[in-house]
Amino acid sequence: MDIGSLLLILAISLLAGFVVSRPFFAESSDKSTDEEITELLAGKELKLSNLMSEKERIFTTLQELETDHALKKIPDEEFPKQRVVLVHAAAKTLRDIDELEVEIKSILKETSVQKKGASLAANAGIPNEVLEELIAARRRSRSEKSAGFCPHCGKVIQSSDVFCPACGSRVSAS
Ligand SMILES: [Zn+2]
Repeated sequence: MDIGSLLLILAISLLAGFVVSRPFFAESSDKSTDEEITELLAGKELKLSNLMSEKERIFTTLQELETDHALKKIPDEEFPKQRVVLVHAAAKTLRDIDELEVEIKSILKETSVQKKGASLAANAGIPNEVLEELIAARRRSRSEKSAGFCPHCGKVIQSSDVFCPACGSRVSAS
């Protein structure tokens, strides 16, 4: 077999491969908007759950620091320095969580508008399970009360606290 025939076979097989795979590419580009949104949301949900864990971790550390200080394990001059670092970290994490929640909400809003438009126009059976699941997950995490600071004395409180462990003020509406 000479080099010319080899090149010809190569060219034919490349062309055949292209023709065979073309419908697949066309189909996947039709689906890409849905898949992209789902992937984008999944990524943001993951980031959000990481931030939630980070927030819990910071609040736990803050509580430990306050306990250690109360037990005189941490010198008076060290305590405010360490506390302010953790409070700033907590504030930043809470801000990041808020921003991410706003982003996720606006994506979900845009998507549901698109979905409504699409189903009205073509009555197309677009699979909404993934989206509905994400919306339900958002509602669940929204309704969960998060840890925070006592509005009276500014000490760290847990979501389960009804009264502030430091000053005794009522911190829960329930
Ligand atoms: Zn308090």
